[in-house]
Amino acid sequence: MLAPLVLATVALASAHHGGEHFEGEKVFRVNVEDENHINVIRNLASTTQIDFWKPDSVTQIKPHSTVDFRVKAEDIVTVENVLKQNELQHEVLISNLRNVVEAQFDSRVRATGHSYEKYNKWETIEAWTQQVATENPALISRSVIGTTFEGRDIYLLKVGKAGQNKPAIFIDCGFHAREWISPAFCQWFVREAVRTYGSEIQITELLNKFDFYILPVLNIDGYVYTWTKSRFWRKTRSTHAGSSCVGTDPNRNFDAGWCKTGASRNPCDETYCGPAAESEKETKALADFIRNNLSSIKAYLTIHSYSQMLIYPYSYAYKLGENNDELILLLGALTTGLMTKESDMPSPLNSEIQADMALSFQNPRSRLPARRRCWQSSTLPAMSWNTCTSRES
Ligand SMILES: [Zn+2]
Repeated sequence: MLAPLVLATVALASAHHGGEHFEGEKVFRVNVEDENHINVIRNLASTTQIDFWKPDSVTQIKPHSTVDFRVKAEDIVTVENVLKQNELQHEVLISNLRNVVEAQFDSRVRATGHSYEKYNKWETIEAWTQQVATENPALISRSVIGTTFEGRDIYLLKVGKAGQNKPAIFIDCGFHAREWISPAFCQWFVREAVRTYGSEIQITELLNKFDFYILPVLNIDGYVYTWTKSRFWRKTRSTHAGSSCVGTDPNRNFDAGWCKTGASRNPCDETYCGPAAESEKETKALADFIRNNLSSIKAYLTIHSYSQMLIYPYSYAYKLGENNDELILLLGALTTGLMTKESDMPSPLNSEIQADMALSFQNPRSRLPARRRCWQSSTLPAMSWNTCTSRES
């Protein structure tokens, strides 16, 4: 039997627009050994403009780990001085964010049209969901499971050969707006399914036996916002009574350990859990769909970036699930498969993934906190995948 699984994957995405330029901004990776180091970063975060990339917030930093964060140009000197004075080992992952962002936003030269090898804006993805369903009626059907806070339709693609009582696997993308590689993965998955069905045995058998529910972008409002206003926006775009801060972290908004470990009750935080469980129209629509199809859905995967991690339940607690042994076996096979298949991925996304994986390799297992329960699967020297139980993405 397939077990529920949460997959977090790959790479840093990038961008343009909205008057943002990122000139001179840097991304640091800091080695954190003890509580003193954590306090140094906590103080830095309270006095300078730090955007945490890993983990998601200052509250989730653990001893014996590495912390990645983005720093505004005007705060660079302060941050570097503080890190030096307190003897925190660190490196600069990105020395000028502008270059990375602009290199990634190469779709500027492409007037219109969908591409599987570029990042697509929402209107293009929306049109693609219609087109791919129309062109593959025997394998794909499209439905709308709800609307976003700003009124956009949330599309779901059902991918599989028609059949009765088929078990289903649910895969979503685009929870966190700035993680552009995630929606790109969902589109690529659908393309590979239709491209290889009937010619490759494994995918043909999978689509004959299972239905795959593919949700290309859940947090559409946020995704649109990253293309038009703020490249590193993460949350939804909902407003909250009593606060001028916008948005909720959609994957901390479910009615499962709601707002306990790793979530914030402050509407201004990136990990804000929302005023109530399923307060967001997007998460409510998704949860309703899952509840209505519980008898057929056997596995659930949610695709995120930054980090090379496979994270599985429970994400809201460090305790192990009852089917932990089964999950370990499943994840072992999955990580091995990912590593051996990685070189088949397309460029230019592949180059970002490889770069990010190479960076990840600098974080050896021995530095990871025991509580995170990580297993590193690294048979290839340049690639390492961590399998973790903790909330990370
Ligand atoms: Zn995420």
